[in-house]
Amino acid sequence: MLKRWFAIPLWQRVIAALVLGIAVGLFWGPGAESIKIIGDVFIAFIKMLVVPLIFFSLVSGVAAIGDLRKLGAVGGRALLLFVVTGQIAVWLGLLLGTVIQPGIGVNTAGLDLGPTPTPNEATWRSMILGIVPQSPVQVMADVNVLPLIVFSLLIGVGILMAQEEGGPVQKIFDSGAVVMQHVTMVVMELTPFGVFALMAWVAGTLGFDALTALAKLVALNYVGCLLIIGIMYSAMIKFMAKLSPVDFFRGIVDAMAVSYSTASSNATLPVTLRCAERNLGVSNSVASFVVSLGATINMNGTAMYLGLATLFGAQVFGVDLTWGQYFLISILATLGAVGAAGIPGAGLIMMALVFGAVGVPLETIAFVAGVDRIMDMMRTTTNVSGDAAVAVTVAHMTGELDRRELTSADDI
Ligand code: ASP
Repeated sequence: MLKRWFAIPLWQRVIAALVLGIAVGLFWGPGAESIKIIGDVFIAFIKMLVVPLIFFSLVSGVAAIGDLRKLGAVGGRALLLFVVTGQIAVWLGLLLGTVIQPGIGVNTAGLDLGPTPTPNEATWRSMILGIVPQSPVQVMADVNVLPLIVFSLLIGVGILMAQEEGGPVQKIFDSGAVVMQHVTMVVMELTPFGVFALMAWVAGTLGFDALTALAKLVALNYVGCLLIIGIMYSAMIKFMAKLSPVDFFRGIVDAMAVSYSTASSNATLPVTLRCAERNLGVSNSVASFVVSLGATINMNGTAMYLGLATLFGAQVFGVDLTWGQYFLISILATLGAVGAAGIPGAGLIMMALVFGAVGVPLETIAFVAGVDRIMDMMRTTTNVSGDAAVAVTVAHMTGELDRRELTSADDI
């Protein structure tokens, strides 16, 4: 019985739980509230993952750069492109969410959300001071992600500066990052139960408007990702790498297909590397550095989605956001995308960090979890295409692009 259960891919179990949860909720009505506790346990486990996941994967990602000089040359350019495209992506998500307003019209009056988290005061002073990890332990205990990210980056730089002597510490973080990915996988096994309980609760108390809102969110997620791929990456390839976007996409079609079906940048990494080197002509050193780093920290689909989903949650639960909070979202969503591991559902976990900071109820996570996989597939394809686009662009800038490879892509 148990064997059969695990034989079904997780995403299929989640979709089944979603459908079943909705059916049970619509049938049961407000009484479905009684099983919400299962969903609450699921959310509590997700929150548990945020700090160790960011800490280990970010430190190990920075340390993977190798040495400080390399960090300066190739890394500087790659990071600049990661940050700029990430920011454009988040603001696209915020724009789509503001204009289309997918979460408006859902009546949450019947929902008991418990205490609403208080929004952080987004003044410039408090924001600047707030990113300094004065007490790292306190920062972790408070799940304060911005200073945690700063702390993790500094530890990564410290490891690079310590050179050989930093090796043992680097190993701990590398292994910690792998362990946390496994822990995440274990927690994700709870998703079907959490989704079932929470969808029953949502459908039982909210009815059909909630489902229409979710359909709108999924559609917007696809529109946002397609705009990023079709306009932003194409422009980058054409104007910065001086390549034909058609040739570029033809070269990475394998990586796109694998990322769409696995919803994991990490799982796609070997294919992305192969496409970048053999089909696009990126040199081995640039490809392995930019693409591996990108698989962990360059996630424009995820960044766009985090912006969009935060607005969705704010609209569903009637939270008013100020301009200051829009800026806070844009920074946190970019950092959340950086901190998200390249595994299925990572973006979902990162929502906790953005939502908490601007007072959007964490129940939104449960609300969207059932349809997350469908969105995750497209986000991951966007993330992976972005890694390849940045690798080609940086290779062009540093003279490490062999254009002959591109013309022979057909033979591969
Ligand atoms: N699954 C995505 C990736 O691997 C991350 C996310 O959940 O957005 O790139």
